[in-house]
Amino acid sequence: MLPPPAGVLKLDQNEVPIPPPQHVLDAARQALAVANWYQPAGLYEEVRSLYAEYAGVSPRRVWLFPGADDFFEGVLRGVRSLAVVSPTYFLLEDQAQFLGVSLAKTPLRGDEFRLDLAELLAAVKGADAVYIDNPNNPTGQLLLSPRQVEEVLALGKPTIVDEAYFEFSGVTVAQLVESWPNLAVVRTMSKAFLLAGMRVSPVLLGDGFNIHYNTVRFRVSLPSLAAARAALYKRDYVEEVVKVVRDGVSYLSEEFPRLGLRTWPSRTNFVLARGPPGLAGLLRRYGVWVRDEEGRLGAGFVRITVGTREMNLQLVRTLKTALRL
Ligand code: PMP
Repeated sequence: MLPPPAGVLKLDQNEVPIPPPQHVLDAARQALAVANWYQPAGLYEEVRSLYAEYAGVSPRRVWLFPGADDFFEGVLRGVRSLAVVSPTYFLLEDQAQFLGVSLAKTPLRGDEFRLDLAELLAAVKGADAVYIDNPNNPTGQLLLSPRQVEEVLALGKPTIVDEAYFEFSGVTVAQLVESWPNLAVVRTMSKAFLLAGMRVSPVLLGDGFNIHYNTVRFRVSLPSLAAARAALYKRDYVEEVVKVVRDGVSYLSEEFPRLGLRTWPSRTNFVLARGPPGLAGLLRRYGVWVRDEEGRLGAGFVRITVGTREMNLQLVRTLKTALRL
């Protein structure tokens, strides 16, 4: 069955609950009709160039992966230790653990989840590489300014800056890949471009990263490349998506405190919130799926994806019922 099940408010994986626009659907459908052929190299090149133009870098910097995890795996296989902030993107942590990479964690401290840059820099010195999600998942905040990213880069370690939420944060270090060979900037078409299920994750790489063209150019499927191409040629819808999401973040950030939930400022399409213990489980009984962060952050912590206006209203109504307000 296709996600999400009928009646369920699926707010647990930071997808954007808006279908892709017609021109993107048409492109993917046309590609299916010729799916007996391998993806032409020219198509991979065209999407690279389009994304390069979008990101403001040269085309040879752009590599397309079927998911950010596909890129992470290649990096993780080449290192023994990785500096990260904590908490960070859970999938990256899981992958690192599975591949036997030890994580040097710099905790986000206090009530506001503050990053101590000096502490991070010290950890990076002792590690083989560093990964920072900026904005951070699950707190939703920007951790480093571009100038601070340069301080990390100056240590010379392979540095992965994950900008999966760039379209919502508006802050990027993309252009730094031209001058810093040790920088990788991870982007995605899964969020503001509405293509999570297509798995198109552009990564911008400095000269220090060694990628073999023929081993990556067949990984992203023909329909996915076709959809990405159409999305990048006509991308005005992205701005509308960003507006819907930002309005949603403002709305939920205002409503949650009225319901007794604490929230944190977010530069993403999700909001970190804290309510009564067991909140994620409670909401699940009402068909509302949110990500349970109790294990990592403490009792009552949840990460909630921002929905459409109607979905956000429904979420607030459900919270009122579930919390008996
Ligand atoms: N990085 C971060 C920090 C994320 O939160 C996500 C999405 N959950 C991703 C990467 C995944 O991106 P993709 O769909 O391109 O693999």
